[in-house]
Amino acid sequence: MPDVVMVAAPHPDDEVLGCGGSIACHVDAGRQVFVLYLSSGERGCPGRPPADVGPLREQEAAQAMETLGIPAANLRFLRLPDGGINPALLDQVGAVTSALRELRPELLYLPHPDDASFDHRAAFMLCWRAAAMAGSRNFPEWGPRPHWVPAVLGYEVWSTIREPAYFEDIDGVLDRKLAALACYQSQSPAAKGDGQASHVGVPAAFLSGFRGAITTGGHREAFTVLRAGRVI
Ligand SMILES: [Zn+2]
Repeated sequence: MPDVVMVAAPHPDDEVLGCGGSIACHVDAGRQVFVLYLSSGERGCPGRPPADVGPLREQEAAQAMETLGIPAANLRFLRLPDGGINPALLDQVGAVTSALRELRPELLYLPHPDDASFDHRAAFMLCWRAAAMAGSRNFPEWGPRPHWVPAVLGYEVWSTIREPAYFEDIDGVLDRKLAALACYQSQSPAAKGDGQASHVGVPAAFLSGFRGAITTGGHREAFTVLRAGRVI
């Protein structure tokens, strides 16, 4: 099993929705978990200035990860533009590549490639490209030591994976996943108002309940397997 795990999130809260239970399991097993936030989700609160929302969601992320046992020093905020994540931009790819070469995860979580959110698909492409480049000897300006990530899993947020290849049993940590999600009060129904999607509360457990229902019961997180080098 891996000693170092990294989760890449297009926006703060995706990491909890997609694999918050798995994160808790890794922490409990004594693994070091890093979280890379691509954007700070600054356009996720309609009617509020993005300049205010970004820092607020970063604070919420720090609280959510503390709830799961991850220290603030293990969080990286790249502050790419919310809505503007673009795998064709080399400076964006380079930022992720640098983080991979510096932190050297043995297991990496990404949004799955068929996510219905345009930003999430762009985040997948960006990180998938960075995962390839991080293992190459090219682009030494993004870190002196190449790093090939041996295992990569794709997580689901609100778009289901057609045929998941790996399931994590999160029954024992579901309460912690929901507690971490509750830290994102800017995304709660009360904060977002009528007619807006909200990501905090009991519905966040529905997908893992569905995944449990179609496998072995309880609650599970489902993944695509993008690389399976040696550690899952
Ligand atoms: Zn998102």
